[in-house]
Amino acid sequence: MPVLFIGHGSPMNIIQSNPFTRSLASLGEVLPRPQAIMVISAHWLTRGTCVTCTEKPRMIYDFFGFLPELYRVTYECSGGSDYAKRLTEEVIRDGTIRCNSTWGLDHASYSVLRHIFPAADIPVFEMSLDYLFNDPHPGLVSSHYELGKRLKPLREMGVLIIGSGNLVHNLRLIDSSEREEASVTWAAEADEMIRSYLMKGDDDALIAYPDTGKWASHAIPTLDHYLPMIYTLALKEEGEPLRFIYEGFQNGSISMRSFWIG
Ligand code: ZN
Repeated sequence: MPVLFIGHGSPMNIIQSNPFTRSLASLGEVLPRPQAIMVISAHWLTRGTCVTCTEKPRMIYDFFGFLPELYRVTYECSGGSDYAKRLTEEVIRDGTIRCNSTWGLDHASYSVLRHIFPAADIPVFEMSLDYLFNDPHPGLVSSHYELGKRLKPLREMGVLIIGSGNLVHNLRLIDSSEREEASVTWAAEADEMIRSYLMKGDDDALIAYPDTGKWASHAIPTLDHYLPMIYTLALKEEGEPLRFIYEGFQNGSISMRSFWIG
């Protein structure tokens, strides 16, 4: 199975038809059909790493102050609990990843899956990020990269892994721009720097980027939306192609850059 990183952006993408969501719809037409989908969510932060092991995931409307119709959207897929359990019992057997039966699907999942797989006929489970806001210790990013490598057997099992976050994401510095270009230089330059590292396959630079990048304090003020990309990088095999399926911005500074590995 390929591996995807999708920049999900504003919850408005759940219902909007725009160049970004249309690119997701086109993607769904050419992707191989997976047995199940695992979304690594920027919006599920836990102590330790969890996967949802539920038969029927509930909808989690984890955004506030948006149009009422966004809170009525549903994505009626099954939960892929067989695959989630195999991940915790067969693929990674040391207890690093635990089953969770209370979380469901947050908008990092359904805001993109609604466009890629509108029929909702493929089982979906989520994986959380082991992440504490107050503990960004050295080595945090590389620890996620190492865990990502251990997820590779899922690809052979027919599981489509989607990292859902955003490469440049600072909600304090967004604006109301509806253009696809960045309205501020720092966001464009940070996105370009990350793009060039991705093209060169320089994983070490991307692992170090939150600490050393010129615009990193603006572009990546917290790691939650960046880390899903680190997992997708870790899943890339030597020599595998990486191509961009969407490049552009929303709200002036949120990079919607998304890519396909495989
Ligand atoms: Zn988000």
